[in-house]
Amino acid sequence: MMKQQDAPRTIFSFFGPPGSGKGTLAQRLVQQQGFQMLSTGNLCRQHVANATEFGLLLDGYLKKGQLIPDDLMTDMVIDWLVTQQHEQSPVILDGFPRTQGQARRFLEFLNKHPQYHFRVIVIELPEEDIVMRLSRRLLCSNKQCQAPFTQAPGLTNCTYCGSPLYKRDDDREEVVRERLRAYPAYRDMLMLFYEQMKQPTEILNIQGLDSEHVYQNFCRLAGIDGAE
Ligand SMILES: [Zn+2]
Repeated sequence: MMKQQDAPRTIFSFFGPPGSGKGTLAQRLVQQQGFQMLSTGNLCRQHVANATEFGLLLDGYLKKGQLIPDDLMTDMVIDWLVTQQHEQSPVILDGFPRTQGQARRFLEFLNKHPQYHFRVIVIELPEEDIVMRLSRRLLCSNKQCQAPFTQAPGLTNCTYCGSPLYKRDDDREEVVRERLRAYPAYRDMLMLFYEQMKQPTEILNIQGLDSEHVYQNFCRLAGIDGAE
């Protein structure tokens, strides 16, 4: 995959319900296509652990059990992008922007920085598929990795880093359904906002697809060569 020096750097926002397999797809694109991935959860943990200026602010909100303000979250993502200036490989923002407030601030940044090409990928999957998928999900216990896997005989360790796999408590069915309840409303709100801002969105429908076909369909949508 060759890229011209002066071509804009593509930033993919992966937006989809919890358990739609965003993480698995992103991991594969990192491994096989050299993409960079940013998970806002990991970014927050790193800032807190390193007690950066952002980390100290975050800590204040987390200690009070408050939500992290949209502007703070967005500024951390922008800060990360800026530290990556020399990189050319496409970026995946996993689950960011998540709210209208985040999207607004991020689009403002992008409008002033034409060196980025922003593509919103909306992953669609029916609720029943998500419940089934999550009830079979295992995660890598290494906090830097957190790769997701589907339960299989003999699978006990992460195939990327070797750490043991575990099952999250909130992957139980009733918890999954509760997490999914709020999703359609905030998806619709964000999509409406993108429409108003004339920001195109692209649908990746993955109903009935295994991770291999999800990967291939994404590569086709993204216009990259998905052959191994
Ligand atoms: Zn791992």
